[in-house]
Amino acid sequence: MSAPEGALAVLVAGGGWAGCAAAVELSASGARVTLAESARTLGGRARGVEVNGKLLDNGQHILLGAYHETLRLQRQVGIDPDQAMLRLPVQMRYPEGAGGMDFVAPRWPAPLHLLGALLRATGLAREDKLALARFTTAARTMGWVLYQDCSVHELLERFGQTERLARLLWYPLCIAALNTPPARASAKVFLAVLRDSLGARRRAASDMLLPRMDMGALFPQAAARYLGEHGATVLTGTKLSAIARAGDGWQVTLNDRQATFDAVVLATPATQSASLLAPHVPELAQQLSALGYEPIATCYLQYEASVRLDLPFYALFDDPGAGRWGQFAFDRGQLDAAQPGLLAVVVSAAGDAARLDQDALAAAIAAQLAQDLRRPELATPTWTRVITEKRATFSCTPGLVRPGIETPLPGLVLAGDYTASDYPATLETAVRSGVTAATVIRSYGTLPRENRSLSHGGSPVDPTSVR
Ligand SMILES: Cc1cc2nc3c(=O)[nH]c(=O)nc-3n(C[C@H](O)[C@H](O)[C@H](O)COP(=O)(O)OP(=O)(O)OC[C@H]3O[C@@H](n4cnc5c(N)ncnc54)[C@H](O)[C@@H]3O)c2cc1C
Repeated sequence: MSAPEGALAVLVAGGGWAGCAAAVELSASGARVTLAESARTLGGRARGVEVNGKLLDNGQHILLGAYHETLRLQRQVGIDPDQAMLRLPVQMRYPEGAGGMDFVAPRWPAPLHLLGALLRATGLAREDKLALARFTTAARTMGWVLYQDCSVHELLERFGQTERLARLLWYPLCIAALNTPPARASAKVFLAVLRDSLGARRRAASDMLLPRMDMGALFPQAAARYLGEHGATVLTGTKLSAIARAGDGWQVTLNDRQATFDAVVLATPATQSASLLAPHVPELAQQLSALGYEPIATCYLQYEASVRLDLPFYALFDDPGAGRWGQFAFDRGQLDAAQPGLLAVVVSAAGDAARLDQDALAAAIAAQLAQDLRRPELATPTWTRVITEKRATFSCTPGLVRPGIETPLPGLVLAGDYTASDYPATLETAVRSGVTAATVIRSYGTLPRENRSLSHGGSPVDPTSVR
């Protein structure tokens, strides 16, 4: 299937989840799409990487049932989310006897599932449960919206949350969802995430989805296949290094070769987009450059194939001062039959952990697992690998103003997890931004040709000329 004659020629630069989403949406609506990714593989910050002959991820990810656009596009490109991910009810389960709690929603309709989780929770005192009930009731009354932003820490104080509940539930949720410590994290964005998880009107929206396949296979590779079948061009190892206005369209430089397009979706990371935009819209470039970042470290620990945890994933008590870095542990063997005995431990907002020697960090995490799970054999994995993404996500701070999808430049739009959204930097934010970018560009295509702000059919790039 190929694009109809006279269709808009669109370059999507950046093959992360945002760029793949934009390319799929545009291609499905008949645009002539070229997707150019500078790396050798698609996926960006959610991709597969090969380590010791195994296909791992650059970082362990969790999706939510509320990721509607992500799930929709996965289906569109032929991925069945029910096969591709393990669906678990919303939960925060610490290893038994480690001083944590066991909070897991029963399969009851919302919002009763939350009430059920609260009534059945162990490890919480009466005042902790009352504080949680008070918080969710007040937040629901407010429609999960906060008009004056503040830090998550302040919000919890204002809502009279107990120290134990903050430590066991709110702080881990905040760090996992916003990748920003509670003292610096936006309460407004945190409430939006809670609205769709603890506060979801449909229980399924609050479910947690654990990938059974690598992050590249979970969407980007299937998107590339879909694009190929729809006549689009997918170029890897192809960097966009300059953009210039050419008539009503854009002349771009891809690996030192020039090509022209009617429209461009800049789905590159904010720092890259800032450099490309600086000669054209310096204020926007400055706004993008000003974003701060937080790292995430994922520690993979390989054990004998027979090693298996009781649950697919656990929350862990972290205490960096005491060398306890791990926040969540995943048993990859329960997700993917090809990974028996492999655990993944995540450290979000990992500024201090990222400065440690990788072997020292892995050894500390192995010791923490052995202690908390009361399994001495976990202290001695056969191999470990720490993957740290230094700029995993932007710092999601109170009052942060994020750029919109549309720019002052005609026919040039942004896509990426950093663009304006009530969500933090997540896969869903990235995918939604790609879908919105495609909608904006499609709106040009629906104009009569003589009225388009973008006119000529463009000269889509010849794949062989830019590799
Ligand atoms: C370790 C880690 C764990 C995470 N955990 C979760 C989680 O559990 N749940 C969740 O929802 N989200 C999670 N996230 C966030 C999620 O992965 C990101 O929000 C999402 O992948 C961002 O996608 P993107 O397309 O906006 O950006 P990117 O993935 O950064 O994509 C941009 C792409 O542009 C390419 N590029 C750069 N420059 C150029 C150029 N000049 N020309 C062409 N291409 C270029 C890059 O190579 C990249 O592929 C996590 C992120 C990390 C790093």
